Amino acid sequence: MAGFYDFSGELGRLEQQGLYRRRRVVDGPQGVLLNVDGRRMVNFCSNDYLGLAADPRLVDAFQRGAERYGVGSGSAHLICGHSAAHHALEDALAEFTSRRRALLFSTGYMANVGTISALLGRGDTVLEDRLNHASLLDGGLLAGARFRRYHHADPADLAAKLATGSGKVLVVSDGVFSMDGDLAPLPALAALAGRHDAGLLIDDAHGFGVLGARGGGIVEHFGLSAEQVPILIGTLGKAFGTFGAFVAGSDDLIELLIQKARSYVFTTAMPPAVAEATRTALRIVRDETWRRERLRELIARFRQGAEQLGLPLMASETAIQPLPTGDSERAVALSNALAERGFWVGAIRPPTVPAGTARLRVTLTALHDDAQIDALLEALSELGA
Ligand SMILES: *Cc1c(COP(=O)(O)O)cnc(C)c1O
Repeated sequence: MAGFYDFSGELGRLEQQGLYRRRRVVDGPQGVLLNVDGRRMVNFCSNDYLGLAADPRLVDAFQRGAERYGVGSGSAHLICGHSAAHHALEDALAEFTSRRRALLFSTGYMANVGTISALLGRGDTVLEDRLNHASLLDGGLLAGARFRRYHHADPADLAAKLATGSGKVLVVSDGVFSMDGDLAPLPALAALAGRHDAGLLIDDAHGFGVLGARGGGIVEHFGLSAEQVPILIGTLGKAFGTFGAFVAGSDDLIELLIQKARSYVFTTAMPPAVAEATRTALRIVRDETWRRERLRELIARFRQGAEQLGLPLMASETAIQPLPTGDSERAVALSNALAERGFWVGAIRPPTVPAGTARLRVTLTALHDDAQIDALLEALSELGA
């Protein structure tokens, strides 16, 4: 009889299916070049799209924040952990997103789970794109509402499902899809939600800071108003280079979340120094437009080069450039072979993506140089990716 603590069978199965996950230990700051086990690797897997995670100005703001506020926040926001640093960042994020209020969460996962489950309950309906991030799916399941997925980025299928929703209905989508890099058809989603009196929640984890002339994300990219996308979630650990997340919207939305979002109420506030570093990041994201322009150039270079080499691109115009491999073992083998050549590219497998759609996920940042892109393309081509 296998005892409760005998996990070897399950681990063996994961290994056999190419689904085993391993961590590499990085020494030193995030950046284009990473120190891994005493070797340099060119980083093509982080979400630090604008290259801010180790920016000296962020480090300085973080250090000054730690001097002023200490390290720990001491408690949840509703006890005594809500500092002037948190409050100032919320105000800045509200202004940046042209919304009345913003509410900080400790992570994007918690923002999504907490917001969806605060807004819906039994008898309500949540409609989710089938490729939504795990945290959005988990939030929908946790809410106890009727949970339905619509076909990926398919307004017609969403319309059909909206017609049969019961109770309050909330439409939920990634802005930029995290493993595919394509955009949600946001104007159509907004129009449909409006027409059916449904709520609309957009998680712009990979668009915020990157898309739009000012970095306002997918909402700015499509030129939509705050009224058309009433519940906007952004994360701060990706293009902003720090940590945490926020929900932006109306006064009443934010007040409701303060009362009812359990992942807000029952967790320790992020360290205030992180909020201070993030306010500096926000200024840089807004002002240093060259970072977004450079990223766009690199994306174009990667796609052009890949096309010339006959590599299998997906329909993405963003910094997320996946190369489908189909099966998981092949994704892992390619990722390992790239690592031997000094390139770190993630192998993305189920359950992160649907079965049979494993892929290499190449991500680009504003700080890559042309030669690094070209060298990666050459390696991918030689390995027959
Ligand atoms: C990364 C990610 C999150 C989670 O954000 P964290 O701050 O890392 O918890 C949520 N949604 C999407 C689409 C993401 O890619």
